[in-house]
Amino acid sequence: MEYVYDFGDDVQHIISLEKVMEADETAKYPRIVSQNKPKYRYCEVCEKLGKNIIATWICIDCSNEEERDVLLCDDCVMKEHEDHYAEEMLY
Ligand SMILES: [Zn+2]
Ligand SMILES: [Zn+2]
Repeated sequence: MEYVYDFGDDVQHIISLEKVMEADETAKYPRIVSQNKPKYRYCEVCEKLGKNIIATWICIDCSNEEERDVLLCDDCVMKEHEDHYAEEMLY
């Protein structure tokens, strides 16, 4: 399966059928039978203060400057990166 988005970027998945089962009469199809847990990453400012707050922003300006991912929560992106270009994290 290939998911094409933006201007030609894509993600490819190999799907393998593992089992065919009787339909559950009471279930609605299609349905999700299993799902990976999102791998949350944490706000680095809050982490230094001993708090694990899920990062919802990546500051692109700081990440480029420091050559690493600078990840922030809503509060921290507003406080110290107000004038910076930041993008929302997708999980
Ligand atoms: Zn924070
Ligand atoms: Zn920044």
